[in-house]
Amino acid sequence: QEAVGYDFLNEKLMAPLVKRRDRQAHKGTYGHCLIIAGSTGKTGAAALAANSAVRTGSGLVTLAVPESLNQILEVKTTEAMTLPLPDAGSGHLTTHAIALLEKYLPGKNALAIGPGIDRRPAGVTVVQNLVENIALPMVIDADGLNALAEDTTVLHRRRSQNIVLTPHPGEMSRLLGSSIPDVAAIRISVAQEFARTFGVYVVLKGARTIIAAPNGMAAINGSGNPGMASGGMGDVLTGIIVSLLGQGYSTWNACRLGVFIHGLAGDLVAMEQGEIGMTATDLMARIPLALNRLL
Ligand code: AMP
Ligand code: MG
Repeated sequence: QEAVGYDFLNEKLMAPLVKRRDRQAHKGTYGHCLIIAGSTGKTGAAALAANSAVRTGSGLVTLAVPESLNQILEVKTTEAMTLPLPDAGSGHLTTHAIALLEKYLPGKNALAIGPGIDRRPAGVTVVQNLVENIALPMVIDADGLNALAEDTTVLHRRRSQNIVLTPHPGEMSRLLGSSIPDVAAIRISVAQEFARTFGVYVVLKGARTIIAAPNGMAAINGSGNPGMASGGMGDVLTGIIVSLLGQGYSTWNACRLGVFIHGLAGDLVAMEQGEIGMTATDLMARIPLALNRLL
């Protein structure tokens, strides 16, 4: 019954949120975000998240990856820098990454963790440790969410006041320890209740993504299409939201605008080439068009 009032996100409501580029700007004006992503078999997720943050207007983007994968990501990203994390040759996160990350985090404006990581115990420890110790605005996605699902009380011990969780329904179910019904009104109250209980922002993805804030506010997205039901689309969304956080958008606005332009970029692809066969890379290329069109 919590789902009483919520905004329906459309161009008219979202356009005023977009910040114009300052004539005097330099790259420091638009934030430096750090994205921890990727493992063997999932380097694409890492590249998509980092390149999407670049496409959303970040001043600088650093992509932290297990060091065995560093050369691959150096090639798959051009504008983003990479930070190789010690992995003992495994291609997966190890707990040795924590100390290096903590050294590297000062001076960054936002953090994302999760795209293409794995569910091994070391990765779980890294995610839980960062949530407990890092005060930056952060986005947690994919196996980052599954790491939290193993112990959601970590969220009560968090340092950051601005944590965004971006679960699809399967990840939301694991966080809740129960299944979630498909009905829109119930999805809204599920997201609202989780956001309130844990004091985090929830982006519950799917056709008509729900966004819920710790204070009970909720919104439902009006953009997007089923061409977006394909691998990598969520990694693009993570890159968009962390970029907006790093640029100084409020967490509520970063979530709403991020979800909306992600869907709008998908709609622009659909207008050009149709829905079938749309790739996350196609969508990523339209992020600037989606954003600049709202100005
Ligand atoms: P993920 O499952 O993490 O790759 O995320 C998929 C992304 O694509 C989310 O942002 C979804 O909201 C979006 N998406 C998937 N299917 C649809 C759909 N049928 N309509 C609109 N957006 C969708
Ligand atoms: Mg995903």
